[in-house]
Amino acid sequence: MENKKNFYINGKWVTPKSKEEIKVIDPATEENCAVITLGNKDDVNDAVNAAKKAYSSWAFSSKDERIRLLEKLYENYKKRWADIASAITTEMGAPKDFATKLQAGTGAAHLKSFIRYLKNFEFEKPLGEHAPNQRLIYEPKGVCALITPWNWPMNQVCLKVMPAIASGCTMVLKPSELAPLSSMILAELIDETKFPPGVFNLVNGDGATTGDSLTSHPDINMISFTGSTRAGALISQNAAKDFKRVSLELGGKGANIIFKDADPEAIERGALRCFRNSGQSCNAPTRMLVEKSMYNDAVERLKKYTEKFEVGDPKKEGEHIGPVISETQYNKIQTLIKKGIDEGAKLVAGGPGKPEGLEKGYFVKPTVFADVNNNMEIARTEIFGPVLSVMPFETEEEAIEIANDTPYGLTNYIQTTDKEKVKRVARKLRSGMVDVNGAGIAVDAPFGGFKHSGIGREAGEHGLEEFLEVKSVGGWS
Ligand code: NAD
Repeated sequence: MENKKNFYINGKWVTPKSKEEIKVIDPATEENCAVITLGNKDDVNDAVNAAKKAYSSWAFSSKDERIRLLEKLYENYKKRWADIASAITTEMGAPKDFATKLQAGTGAAHLKSFIRYLKNFEFEKPLGEHAPNQRLIYEPKGVCALITPWNWPMNQVCLKVMPAIASGCTMVLKPSELAPLSSMILAELIDETKFPPGVFNLVNGDGATTGDSLTSHPDINMISFTGSTRAGALISQNAAKDFKRVSLELGGKGANIIFKDADPEAIERGALRCFRNSGQSCNAPTRMLVEKSMYNDAVERLKKYTEKFEVGDPKKEGEHIGPVISETQYNKIQTLIKKGIDEGAKLVAGGPGKPEGLEKGYFVKPTVFADVNNNMEIARTEIFGPVLSVMPFETEEEAIEIANDTPYGLTNYIQTTDKEKVKRVARKLRSGMVDVNGAGIAVDAPFGGFKHSGIGREAGEHGLEEFLEVKSVGGWS
């Protein structure tokens, strides 16, 4: 079992003041793989103080200096890519290939993308040709609390740490207590890159103590959070007391609208996007809406596809999915699968219990429910497991109405070969992202949601601007 008890504060690994520890569990084996410390108020104070002290000079560091350090960090990241992927496999169960290509891969992609946006970003510019004497100055927001979940650990951490560094902010990262290991490798890389002490600090801990101390700390100017709607609301209450800026990436319950003229592979592609990462993606298309004339055929195809879908050991290579993160999540998913059956949805594939031969580990059977109606709990709750709800629709208007009838609004999906229909439907969907015919959303496109899916956007230029404050100066020249 690895000893990961120390925190990274003010440019060094330090012994925490808190003596409270928890074990990190490998979800594929249910065994302890590391021990971390749960930071207390004093640990949070030390980290915030270090970040506050560093801010006064880092905020005025040159763009060239920040580019140089981020480029060096990127080189260091590439050298430890395999270690990062392996830590992700251990801490949250993403299979080796998926962890390497996608989990560790998106972290690298965001790092690279923010370097590009930083190079092109104008931190000072005139308001416009009509007002040459009016200047806009983009300044770093200040000391940031970055709080991340376990489902895409490096992706989510890099979406916050990289723009915070690029903008000249200083920060305290509190990664998920369930999956802190990849973030601790990132802290090692930041140390090796020799960022000025205090620019980046890492404190481990849970939400109720460490997260709460951090988000209520008076010297925090901005909170960037990804996780549950529940925690997002609590964090916003803390922020409201002293008007901290809050950026929230919360849950989703994406609809995948499949029209009868869609390319035939859209059905299997939709199921794969739902099951990938064991269904633990906020942007997963978990509600499949299928045009009535092809509905029965689609359900038949989903049955065949899902019955063959492989679940297995995340340490082996392949396209299979691994376990879900924890016993708590496993139990929550089981309860929701049973609820779907009780509510009268038709179980087409999968169902309660573990896949054959995988009794140890938090493995869930990929599950498909047909004849779901949008009021059932499985259609409304973010299950965060490999569970797909399928329902029919008759008209374009009905599909849009069902898709929008959810508290969430993160990503919706459209499958059709009719280009005009794509535009009509995409404009009417109430979500931050719309993915058409499997095209995917670019790594630097604004990522974020409407309604209960959050506030603000991450990635690319929008993600950089989240960490900036704009100042207007009249009478510049
Ligand atoms: P969570 O929101 O409880 O935890 C996410 C992060 O927030 C962790 O670092 C946690 O320690 C921290 N946190 C929790 N409560 C906090 C508080 N009061 N103050 C400050 N920080 C706090 O999420 P979870 O328990 O890991 O997962 C529960 C559900 O959240 C999942 O079932 C899923 O629906 C949702 N979720 C969504 C996303 C997403 O990407 N949108 C990611 C993870 C989880």
